[in-house]
Amino acid sequence: MSNKNFRSGVLYGAELTELYNHASKHDYALPAVNVIGTNSINAVMETARDLESPVIIQLSNGGASFYAGKGLDNSQQKASIYGAVAGATHVHLLAKQYDVPVVLHTDHCAKNLLPWVDGLLDIGEKYYAEKGQPLFSSHMLDLSEEELEENIGTSKAYFERMNKIDMSIEIELGVTGGEEDGVDNTEIDSARLYTQPEEVAYAYEELMKVSPRFTVAAAFGNVHGVYKPGNVELRPIILKNSQDFVKEKFNLDKDQPIHFVFHGGSGSDLKDIREAITYGAIKMNIDTDQQWAFWDGLRAYEAKNRGYLQAQIGNPDGDDIPNKKYYDPRKWLRAAEDAFRVRLTQAFEDLNAVGKNKI
Ligand SMILES: [Zn+2]
Repeated sequence: MSNKNFRSGVLYGAELTELYNHASKHDYALPAVNVIGTNSINAVMETARDLESPVIIQLSNGGASFYAGKGLDNSQQKASIYGAVAGATHVHLLAKQYDVPVVLHTDHCAKNLLPWVDGLLDIGEKYYAEKGQPLFSSHMLDLSEEELEENIGTSKAYFERMNKIDMSIEIELGVTGGEEDGVDNTEIDSARLYTQPEEVAYAYEELMKVSPRFTVAAAFGNVHGVYKPGNVELRPIILKNSQDFVKEKFNLDKDQPIHFVFHGGSGSDLKDIREAITYGAIKMNIDTDQQWAFWDGLRAYEAKNRGYLQAQIGNPDGDDIPNKKYYDPRKWLRAAEDAFRVRLTQAFEDLNAVGKNKI
């Protein structure tokens, strides 16, 4: 008999809905961690295993091309497509060995990047025909720069295609401020940083025609990256207002009909994070703080072992002593992974997500 809520491996379809309903009911959100290679992927799975919780692993367009290698040509999105497939294959193989439930996702895809998701769906459909399960649990389309009708119309068309292979979709309403992955929204009109309940209701009505299996990244003042406080103000109450509006408009029983996604959470106050969770945020994207942690682990390693890292031979203990055990990449990459795991553990704690795979 299983003593776990969710099986190990990549979750999708009905299992994913069950996971998000579980998060909504028990007031936690899953960290959705941006990864760029095997070091970050393995560190995420190791952390989730140690904390006995499911986790979301996601590749951005830039992260996916980096996974494939900076030296690989990315015209027609080739590196971003095959890098994402390589990362996904890695997760499919190893999530079961780490014994963790993983949601496998791709991050922001703006209009000009749609050929990326087209390529992933071409491969994903073949994968599904062969294996009876999707390659990715979900893709995000971020058409928040477009008019609402175009955003939802295009998202809906993609969602129909994804739904046929048991995938979910994440959409974005309103604009997340700041700068990420080459998209610069630092100068945007601040009114657009706050989603209107009517927009959420419109998206709900249209997407429900395809399937209930969607999530919504609604902007409530969120900003990508980390900046000095005071520029914009987070208003998580927007999520609650939207839930109430949708519930009333469509006469629903559920208090939280929408599964919300929290973008741009790095550097947020714990109070705002917890408030967003109580209003139905079930996924929080984690990137910038993890990037810093990975670097900081390496920085501390170098600072501690500086005298042993200046030449292949010769260190403070003697001129003839080899330093191989200090400069072996496995040493310093592991130090970076360790710091990454410590920061991610804090994220799980902030999101009330520790031990959620234990019955
Ligand atoms: Zn984002």
